[in-house]
Amino acid sequence: MSDIFTEAKKSIFAISKKFNLDQDEVKDFLEPHRVIEVEIPIKLKNGQIKVFKGFRSQHNNRLGPYKGGIRFHQNVTREEIMTLSLWMTLKCAVADLPYGGAKGGIIVDPKTLTEQELEKLSRGYIRAIYDVIGSDKDVPAPDVNTNPKIMGWMVSEYIKISNEKKSNIPENLLYATFTGKPDRDHGLAGRVEATGFGGVIILKELVRKLGLKPETQTIAIQGFGNVGQYFAQFAADNGFKIVAVSDSKGAITEKNHKFRALDIPLVLKCKKEKGMVAGCYCVGGVCDLTKGRPISNEALLELPVDILVPAAFENVINEKNMTKIKAKIIIEMANGPVSYRAYEYLTKKGVVIVPDILANAGGVTGSYIEWKQNIENKKYKKEEALKMIEGIMEMAFDNIWNEAKNLKTHLKEASTVHALKKLLG
Ligand code: NAD
Repeated sequence: MSDIFTEAKKSIFAISKKFNLDQDEVKDFLEPHRVIEVEIPIKLKNGQIKVFKGFRSQHNNRLGPYKGGIRFHQNVTREEIMTLSLWMTLKCAVADLPYGGAKGGIIVDPKTLTEQELEKLSRGYIRAIYDVIGSDKDVPAPDVNTNPKIMGWMVSEYIKISNEKKSNIPENLLYATFTGKPDRDHGLAGRVEATGFGGVIILKELVRKLGLKPETQTIAIQGFGNVGQYFAQFAADNGFKIVAVSDSKGAITEKNHKFRALDIPLVLKCKKEKGMVAGCYCVGGVCDLTKGRPISNEALLELPVDILVPAAFENVINEKNMTKIKAKIIIEMANGPVSYRAYEYLTKKGVVIVPDILANAGGVTGSYIEWKQNIENKKYKKEEALKMIEGIMEMAFDNIWNEAKNLKTHLKEASTVHALKKLLG
């Protein structure tokens, strides 16, 4: 079986061929400009030295500095990071942001480290990639298992090294080298919500175009982390019925598919207390597991809901389960959750799929506003930031919707072609 990067390239290449884009240019475009591999030795609490492997893939900077998150996960591979960096290049072009694409990652299960060890690892990674990042070169951000606290450690290490090197980089540009920082530490009020918020803007635009009413639409969300939680919250605020959610330990939904809307703030509170959503069946102000039903993550994907929102990992909807998917709309909030084959199959069946490079672009859009705020030495209010994200996401949706109409194709091909037209030549 070929790796994820080969698969991603194949699918983009096939789309570009179908729409007569220059094949040599596309081939050149697909390869990252540079992939850096680093080794980070950390002294653990028990005195042992452990060496962790990390990557930074700088895919393309034609439209602006490389931009992309840093992932901490035991399954990180060089190919995965290269793929995610390629998708970042396309995503920034779809959202019309002045950025290229990048991605970073460390092979580590962060749950096995103490907070101090995690801080050493985060700082060590920045020391290792210091020379290749900067506000006008490459701007990292959070991704799976990284958060504002980790970004705070990273920017503090970056500033420390810059001082050691007497770099003379102005302070605001040192801060502009990272996004997703804590709000009180030059971050953006609204950045943690940005990805989920942006996804719901896209969903609202889509149901409007399809002539559907939010109140009639049931939603199942896979992944209840940064993206999934805020998506759930904003979707519920806009009248959609969230009827099932899951995290790595399992899912929760109503018994017998009667589908009552979950009380999302209560589910969040319950997850905080219990450490998982599986015991948190909360509806109408009470949590009562006897009325709900814990199910597996696989079963959540196959529920007879209207809208499915994969917000955890790549490739969760694939050749093995595609025939069992019943949702009529899929919003790809994770990166690459629907495999190429599954995408083709489901689209032919009439399922409307909003591709990741459009659906989850709210995150990098929030990052762009944070970066701009640092460069301009400003501080935006949360409402201002969310308003700006809303405007950019609505514009991106409109562009891709119109491109799909022009090309007479689905949203994934339309967004890929739309991005490639900006990036080639
Ligand atoms: P996160 O680490 O905050 O959350 C991931 C969630 O997925 C957790 O709830 C975890 O328990 C759950 N999970 C893990 N394995 C699972 C499984 N097998 N089944 C169901 N749930 C599982 O990560 P995040 O930042 O929310 O990112 C989620 C996805 O969204 C990733 O694909 C990421 O690349 C993408 N994304 C994130 C952002 C962002 O701003 N954070 C932006 C764009 C795209």
